[in-house]
Amino acid sequence: MSSENHELIIIGAGPAGLTAAIYAARAELSPLMIEGYQSGGQLMLTSDVENFPGFAKGINGPDLIKETREQALRFGTKILSEDVTKADFSQRPFKIEVGEKVFYANSVIISTGASARWLNLESEQALIGRGVSSCATCDGAFFKDKEVVVVGGGDSAMEEANFLTKFASKVTLINRSENFRASKIMLTKARENPKIEIITNAIIEKVLGVEEKKVSGVEIKDVKTGDLNKLDCSGLFIAIGHIPNVSLFDGQIEVDENKYIITKPKSTATNIKGVFACGDVQDSIFRQAITAAGTGCMSAMEAERYLTHK
Ligand code: NDP
Repeated sequence: MSSENHELIIIGAGPAGLTAAIYAARAELSPLMIEGYQSGGQLMLTSDVENFPGFAKGINGPDLIKETREQALRFGTKILSEDVTKADFSQRPFKIEVGEKVFYANSVIISTGASARWLNLESEQALIGRGVSSCATCDGAFFKDKEVVVVGGGDSAMEEANFLTKFASKVTLINRSENFRASKIMLTKARENPKIEIITNAIIEKVLGVEEKKVSGVEIKDVKTGDLNKLDCSGLFIAIGHIPNVSLFDGQIEVDENKYIITKPKSTATNIKGVFACGDVQDSIFRQAITAAGTGCMSAMEAERYLTHK
């Protein structure tokens, strides 16, 4: 087994981790960023980012990540495009394993983000990639002139539904209550889109097409009356939020009831001295690219202070 020593290792390369890398590299900490095979985080699955300051005309998610990654590299961040397989914070320096490779670090920044949440129906799981998707940007084009269903009532669901109308002949948006978590502006945009029909107080009971290995419809249940209805569609997009990626740190890092890493107030410090967490892995409230970047900056500054005074 080969091993390397580093002052700072950053795990995860979305806007939080990349911003941490820029600040840490500029502070001459020569950070090692382990970005994983699927780097870039959720922005890689986003089309237009219209609310990131500095881009008056908007920028698409992958381009924003590409630019930020280049900025991190420019100041001397080393990037490893593999997945961390084990993290051990019980010893110092901390031990991070990537397959056969072992890395030791005096400080670690966790910026592993969050992954799409599923309904967890057997029929849904069986049809992922066969009409069931959690990413309209990735899969929307497969549904040209077809009917699709989107589940969820937050901004993600509105964004996905609107985006899908570029391809689909009809988009049915299903929300489990009458209350939407989406911002007014995005909900209005969906309501005003003639290709979108919104059904409230309904849940998906079953995805149809398992035997044919291709989505052919959904069975939906009216939560008020219990009535079941069948809706034909070729695609089902699940947009019901995200789950923080913390399984690597199970039993070591303190998390809340929803598995978000707990950080100290006005800080990104975790329960382990020298380990910091930033971005969506610790933020269940704002979950924006810009807030992730902000906490990434905080993490790098706190890691620098920690390394100077430890
Ligand atoms: P949210 O947590 O905001 O919304 C999740 C939605 O899914 C809610 O309507 C929730 O319903 C519903 N839901 C959850 N679990 C289930 C389930 N098992 N079955 C059916 N429905 C379910 O998540 P989002 O991903 O939409 O948004 C996350 C954050 O990202 C927000 O802060 C949002 O503003 C931001 N965002 C911003 C965008 C932009 O500005 N361009 C685009 C996309 C996201 P209920 O309310 O009943 O719990």
